[in-house]
Amino acid sequence: MRLDLTEIVTHLGKQISYEIDEPPIEDFGGGVWCVAPILGHVTFTNTGRHVVARGSFSTTVELECSRCLRAHSMLLELPIEEELQIAGHTIEMLEAADEDEIPEEEREPLFVDNIFDLTELIRQSILLALPIKPLCSEECRGLCPHCGANLNDGPCGCPPDVDANPFAALAEIFENEESVE
Ligand SMILES: [Zn+2]
Ligand SMILES: [Zn+2]
Repeated sequence: MRLDLTEIVTHLGKQISYEIDEPPIEDFGGGVWCVAPILGHVTFTNTGRHVVARGSFSTTVELECSRCLRAHSMLLELPIEEELQIAGHTIEMLEAADEDEIPEEEREPLFVDNIFDLTELIRQSILLALPIKPLCSEECRGLCPHCGANLNDGPCGCPPDVDANPFAALAEIFENEESVE
């Protein structure tokens, strides 16, 4: 969703609201899928030097659990809080505030030539909100290191894991060393 904010940019104090109803963003990579439409609202206000965007949106993403690799879904409800610097000034703004010309390089990449890329803002917000190590549940038991079975489905057929008690394994090694001597 790319919004033409020319109407707001050229009118100091102007405020416009939009409903957000976007299809899921598919292209996240790294085992993350957005699986529900993106719904919400956003209001843009021209405060003089900035167009201020305020609102919120919600969607559902599917993530791969970092322990058991199983996909699980996560509801995201995120705020929209963005200040878009207005590049250049309209006649109204020059009358309202005698500010220096804003250099080209300070332009918001999301906001170029009065076109605001709302989808890109949403995509960035979702990426920032994702956990670094997603877990399907705090109690996730992960995968068996030997056979790869998902231990959340119950114990696998492997013999009791010696790794579960590293001290027992160490004791065994010391015993063997002693018997060699
Ligand atoms: Zn898991
Ligand atoms: Zn196993």
